[in-house]
Amino acid sequence: MNSNPNCIFCRIVLGEAPAAIVHDDAQCMAFMDVMPQSSGHVLVIPKKHAETIYDVDADEAAMLIRQTHRIASAIRKAIQPGGLMIAQYNGALAGQTVGHIHFHLIPRYAGVDLKGHAAVLARPGDLAVLRERILAALPG
Ligand code: 5GP
Ligand code: ZN
Repeated sequence: MNSNPNCIFCRIVLGEAPAAIVHDDAQCMAFMDVMPQSSGHVLVIPKKHAETIYDVDADEAAMLIRQTHRIASAIRKAIQPGGLMIAQYNGALAGQTVGHIHFHLIPRYAGVDLKGHAAVLARPGDLAVLRERILAALPG
């Protein structure tokens, strides 16, 4: 499994850095964004280090969107936001700040503006509650 010791997401995969994990299998992990743009913001990543969409093959890309799709349904069931935004940035110019490919799932709520990108740390207790709710809504 490719891993980059300087990559925070690789450190989460290895269990060296904490995260509120909502999905964990041989290829993929999903966890609460620590600086959420809205309540329930989740990131889906491959376990193997790859920087951008250009660095994964079609099967890996399909695997990531399959899990993104599955977790989207769980977020809807658990949190019932008014909408859900899905985003994936490639390169600093596009707004990517962590060089390990990921899909953002960002719930939207009526009348609530998004917080800044990677701007404000969430309270760990809040992330733990959201994690439990999403976990409970995931099938099997
Ligand atoms: P990007 O800008 O690369 O698309 O998104 C990186 C995301 O990772 C941001 O939304 C940021 O809040 C989140 N993030 C950065 N460091 C950590 C971390 O250590 N743990 C978690 N859970 N999220 C992180
Ligand atoms: Zn990495």
